[in-house]
Amino acid sequence: MAWFRKDKPGVEAQQKKNIPEGLWTKCQSCGEIAYSKKLEELLWICPNCDFHFRISSRKYIDLLLDGGRLEEFDSNLTSGDPLKFKDSKKYPDRIKAAQKKSGLVEGVLAGIAEVGGFEISFAIMNFSFIGGSMGSVVGEKIARAIERAIDREIPLVIVCSSGGARMQEGILSLMQMAKTSALLAILAEKKIPYFTVLTNPTTAGVMASYASLGDVIIAEPKALLGFAGPRVIQQTIGEALPDGFQSSEFFLEKGFLDKVVSRRDLRDTLIKLLRFTWRK
Ligand SMILES: [Zn+2]
Repeated sequence: MAWFRKDKPGVEAQQKKNIPEGLWTKCQSCGEIAYSKKLEELLWICPNCDFHFRISSRKYIDLLLDGGRLEEFDSNLTSGDPLKFKDSKKYPDRIKAAQKKSGLVEGVLAGIAEVGGFEISFAIMNFSFIGGSMGSVVGEKIARAIERAIDREIPLVIVCSSGGARMQEGILSLMQMAKTSALLAILAEKKIPYFTVLTNPTTAGVMASYASLGDVIIAEPKALLGFAGPRVIQQTIGEALPDGFQSSEFFLEKGFLDKVVSRRDLRDTLIKLLRFTWRK
């Protein structure tokens, strides 16, 4: 039988050539394939299963802030190499590679912006920069964003996404958890509202500090949230984990979250929260 014989060699290669790269995107959750342009219009939300694809911090800025404008602060802060750390790459080389790949200087952007006419101190993490890891620069920029909220008496909004502390900076990275948490306690004393938006994924040291300390904590649907990974937990406690463990929906059910909000409604939700809690 010659059913599978290629009668015209090169036909397949020719067809592949005609499809520009990135035209179609496969949903990581349901496997459905969607037209990338359509997904862009849908704010990168799967039309089939509502899975929220990861988007850049620039896209969130466009989506959430008035006029897509962020007056950025501390934009040139970069990490040192205190431990002279080297794994498969030297740490400074890893930073350079991440800067080149992401077009960002570090894992977080921070500054002053307006949302619905409310002036806020705003920070947003970017997962594409070494897994949104929190090193001393990320911690310092978050700390300064909190201080700006305190000094100017304006609400604070942080959009989180992180794989955790940046191991290349060891204890200096872990110290950021205490530093940011202590400043948030001062913000709370001043009765200035703080809202966090958790996106996929928000885990480990970030989750265990400023991500989970918001007065109101909201998350995008189906985001992976948690401290340690499921395998580590399963091995530690020696029990099977429940279905949907570490998802936004599970966190909401257990009381760790206040609301699961679609990306389409994030801006309106933030404006509503600001109206409820603050004056212009
Ligand atoms: Zn899907």
